[in-house]
Amino acid sequence: MNTEKNCWWFIVAEGQILLQPQGDFIPYGNLDDLSLDEALVSEKVELGHYQSSPCYLVEFKTQIDVGFGEYSDLRTLLGTVDDRLFDIAGRAFQISLFYKTHQFCGQCGEKMQAIDWEIAMQCQHCKHRCYPRVSPCIIVGIRKEKQILLALHRRHQKSNNQVYTVLAGFTEAGETLEHCVEREVYEESGIKITNIEYVTSQPWPFPHSLMMGFTADYLSGDIKIDPRELSSATWYDVDNLPALPVEGTLARKLINQMISQCV
Ligand SMILES: [Zn+2]
Repeated sequence: MNTEKNCWWFIVAEGQILLQPQGDFIPYGNLDDLSLDEALVSEKVELGHYQSSPCYLVEFKTQIDVGFGEYSDLRTLLGTVDDRLFDIAGRAFQISLFYKTHQFCGQCGEKMQAIDWEIAMQCQHCKHRCYPRVSPCIIVGIRKEKQILLALHRRHQKSNNQVYTVLAGFTEAGETLEHCVEREVYEESGIKITNIEYVTSQPWPFPHSLMMGFTADYLSGDIKIDPRELSSATWYDVDNLPALPVEGTLARKLINQMISQCV
């Protein structure tokens, strides 16, 4: 290995990532500058490039003290670093999880082995091959004149992070994204929508979703929440909104877009 080349190091251990306290947070440099032992990073996985420098995932079994940085939750990077850098950190977590959860074949139960020319695991017995799991999800902001629909999700109500956000849900097998948007909105809130428009997407590595963001307009029906998913759902005036998801999330991006359209 060329130890003089500057690289981005995504060092993951026990569900956390090693971050430096300043700059871009992700450790950057060559092995000598960072005083990183070459043996420690010998089983690195290529993740792509950021600003023309290679990015590597390095997985430690325990949170080894490498002499710099601290291990932190991935969420601490959300909204604090460049979106692309966050996405690569998310990719590091998803690939780390993939290798951990695909050690044995789901078809015949034999041991799986990593393929050396792409990120995949293959069974040595029946040749069944698996790739990192990506779960498509839709997330949709709904407008009604100068109001937007925001819900308190049960998972947020239980936490200290009580934010009111847009509706979301996993795409089902055999479903288009547009059908998924209509179905999720109707199941969770009881209303019908129209003018469904795709906005943008965001990889959401908690643990392996791909959020696809839409906006839509209210068409008909009264709000009737699914109590298994939501604690409440209400139309809010855009100039009097409750606590919202943090900047950097796709939910917030959709809400900000709807606010700008309404004023
Ligand atoms: Zn097999």
